[in-house]
Amino acid sequence: MAGNIFRIVERLIHPQRSIRWRLFWCFFGVSLGAIAVINLVWLPASIREIRHGQEELRSVSVESIRDRMRHFLRDLEAELNSAMLQFRVALLDGDPEDIRSTAQKLIQHQPAFEEIGLLSNQGREIFKVSRRQPVTHEELRDRSATALFREGRKAKIRWSSVEITETSEPWVTLSISLDSSKPEGVGIVYAVINLKWLWRLTGDFKLSNQGRAYVVDGNGRLIAASDTSWVLRQISFADRPLVKQLMSTRWNQTAPAIHGSYTNEIGSAVAASGVRLDPPGWSVIVEQPQAVLYAAVREKLWFCAALSTAALLISLLFAHFASGRVTQPISRLQEAADQIAAGRLEHRVPIETDDEIGRLAAHFNEMTFALRVSRQGLEEKIAERTQEISALYAAMTPLGSSDSIAQIFGPIIDKLVEATGSDAALIRVFDREQNGFACLAQAGFPSDYLAAARTMNPGSSSERVFSQGVPIIAENIAADPRIKRKRQLQYGFNSCALLPLAVRNEVRGIIHLASRQAGYFSEDKKEYLMAIARLMGIVIENNELLQSSVQWTVDLKRSNQELSALYAALAPIGVDIQVQELLAGVIERLQSATGADAASIRMLDKNDGSFYYPAQKGFPQEFLFANPTLESGSADERVFVSGEPIVAENIAADARIRRKRQIQYGFNSCALLPLAVGNEVRGIIHLASRQTGYFAEEKTDYLMAIARLMGIVVENNELLQSSVRSAAELRQSNQELEQFAYVASHDLQEPLRMITGFTQLLAKQYGDRLDQKAKEYIGFAVDGAKRMQGLIEDLLTYSRVGSKGKAFVSTDCEAVLGKTLAGLRIGLQECGATVSHDSLPTVMGDEFQLGQLFQNLLGNAIKYRNSEAPQVHVSCKQETEQWTFAVKDNGIGIEPQYRERIFQIFQRLHTREEYEGSGIGLAVCKKIVERHGGKIWLESNLGEGATFYFTMPA
Ligand code: ADP
Repeated sequence: MAGNIFRIVERLIHPQRSIRWRLFWCFFGVSLGAIAVINLVWLPASIREIRHGQEELRSVSVESIRDRMRHFLRDLEAELNSAMLQFRVALLDGDPEDIRSTAQKLIQHQPAFEEIGLLSNQGREIFKVSRRQPVTHEELRDRSATALFREGRKAKIRWSSVEITETSEPWVTLSISLDSSKPEGVGIVYAVINLKWLWRLTGDFKLSNQGRAYVVDGNGRLIAASDTSWVLRQISFADRPLVKQLMSTRWNQTAPAIHGSYTNEIGSAVAASGVRLDPPGWSVIVEQPQAVLYAAVREKLWFCAALSTAALLISLLFAHFASGRVTQPISRLQEAADQIAAGRLEHRVPIETDDEIGRLAAHFNEMTFALRVSRQGLEEKIAERTQEISALYAAMTPLGSSDSIAQIFGPIIDKLVEATGSDAALIRVFDREQNGFACLAQAGFPSDYLAAARTMNPGSSSERVFSQGVPIIAENIAADPRIKRKRQLQYGFNSCALLPLAVRNEVRGIIHLASRQAGYFSEDKKEYLMAIARLMGIVIENNELLQSSVQWTVDLKRSNQELSALYAALAPIGVDIQVQELLAGVIERLQSATGADAASIRMLDKNDGSFYYPAQKGFPQEFLFANPTLESGSADERVFVSGEPIVAENIAADARIRRKRQIQYGFNSCALLPLAVGNEVRGIIHLASRQTGYFAEEKTDYLMAIARLMGIVVENNELLQSSVRSAAELRQSNQELEQFAYVASHDLQEPLRMITGFTQLLAKQYGDRLDQKAKEYIGFAVDGAKRMQGLIEDLLTYSRVGSKGKAFVSTDCEAVLGKTLAGLRIGLQECGATVSHDSLPTVMGDEFQLGQLFQNLLGNAIKYRNSEAPQVHVSCKQETEQWTFAVKDNGIGIEPQYRERIFQIFQRLHTREEYEGSGIGLAVCKKIVERHGGKIWLESNLGEGATFYFTMPA
């Protein structure tokens, strides 16, 4: 919603730049202007006129009221004046009755007079008649102090201010002064006038438009109005602006009425007009309610508003349709232009009018027709060209891996002639070695012309095309200054195109097209011809890529074969092969795998920093030994430090190879590869070739793969050597240990036996001469010696497992177990033990030792029994390559934490007091099992019996 409004406003502020839009605004603007003039000029003027008319009407009314009142007041003045003259005469005559009758008559005649009186020039009341009550002579008073007398004497005729009380009707006193010189002469004649008669005048006046009239005195007090009650209430209108204005202004009798407006006492807004009535200085005002007065104006306004709205709508519609109508042909024209711009050239603009637009439409149609025709021509041309190029392309695509460029271009040349429409075509490439052009393919040129085309003449058009890479298209060879030698003319060619044959921005040759027809090749064919030339370039490029990828595949195949041969040569590393021998053995393979003319492996002796050559081939001795150490700044050092290879395509030009000694021996390209073991560079594989560029950057990965392979071989060899070494050392030390144990135990037995024997002898022969203590000590000595003997025996047993073991023969374990059980029979019976067993296999082993093994395990199973009768079960099961035996008992069991410890020599879990033993049994078992290539372990928990497992190879 907001967006819509915004768009409308936006369109109004920034209108579309269309003729229709401008016309619309033009039409609409004119209508709007007319409406504005009506509303802003005519309407206010006519409203002003109405108001003015009203004011004039009011002026007339108010002035006529004022005039009537003025007449009324002047009449009163005249009547009093004439009465005064009569009074004067009567006074002179001294006829008071005459005065009375005159006065009575006047009162009767003029109902406005309420009272008439005479004051002497001293201010005394001479006479007085009142309409309401008779006045006696006694009632006459001295009124010299009153305003009536004092003010009245100053003017000839004076109207007093209006007196109003709440009870009586308002009155005013009119006085006429007389200039009587006599002391008792008449000073003033006065009449009190009831103003209700004035009301009548105002009330009687019929005013249009619910108007009303009222009169205010010089102080703004209401003195006459149609509604008399207002007057009695003594209301003041002095605050009304109009009244103020009337009160302040000095008016003359003829002054026109003034106008104003205010809100009256009943709250309605009124328009009023007023005039002054002088004397007595009153103002007459006529007011009319604005609501009534301006009803006509309002009507007019409404009417105008309705009319304006209608006019506005009509003008909008008019502007819309009129602008549409006027711009319709233009829009059609524009639509047509859009259609044509969009490529629909068959579109026709309807010609509707016979004016400029109609003519324009006709021009448009002519133009599109012309365009259509030219497009058709163009399309045909494009189709033709596309066909030609695709034919050309088709001729070029089937590239065989074995095709040479000449083979490829042979069949293309005819297509080229066909596609370009030339009479002769020649494709030449520049041969740097021959310093001349070689012809790849040609058609239509005579052989002697071709022979001459082999040389590149300086300044010739060919040279220009070749060196600058820009084509020369000569419409007319005869007239073209770029074609210096006009030899083509001799062969009847008049127009030609020399196009650069470029491969990857490098101009390799020239495509020469010639036509007998002068002007056949022209500049406008340049793009097309160049496209063909580029296509030819791409053909060469593709062919090169193909050739190089074929070559690469061949190389790869060969190097793979060589690598595997190299690997095969490296693989059979014997235990006694030293690195030196190993590398010497592979140097030939290395040479053939890399295709190097010479190969060497230099190793750095860490002790003295000198090089030695485990292997080399193809390098002269003096070359090798001229460089005995790692020189700082040399290429070797660089390889050593960085671990990166240096592959120098051209030793002569390579800054990394400082001493160019290799060149002296005819090597032009080389590779220095780090021979790294782990991360440490140990040596350098140096490969050299007589051929410049033989070792190039792109071979680096392959060479490094070989270098790494060599490194791994050296590393493996080192590992093998070291493991062989440590195994031999181990064997040696074991043998020595066994030897020692055997010798020690064997040789120790002899003196020990002497100790025991002689100590026993001592006890026996000298027993009676020895005291108890000595006998006890001898007992300890014998005991200790016996224990030592036991230990030595055990040790001997243990050492014999290794040293005195027999060769393995096929041994029936069941039979071995049978013999063992027979030996243990008494022991078993004593403790009521039962031994069961599965059928046991025949294994390769030492029968005596296997018997020992069973004996120890069964012996323990019975020895470490609890209160129950021992039950032992010997089982065996076959796994893939071994037998697993188990000897399970129901004895005291072993805490899991001692699982390893009990197999160590002399390790026991109990004292000898608890269980007899020396702690050698299981150590012997372990040794026997291991000698047979098996493992021994146990599973047990304290108090739950124990199961000893051991394996024997199957
Ligand atoms: P010993 O001469 O003490 O029997 P062994 O090497 O045969 O020496 O055994 C080492 C220790 O292993 C023993 O002291 C014993 O505590 C524990 N042991 C061996 N066989 C068993 C068994 N079947 N049940 C419980 N304990 C055993």
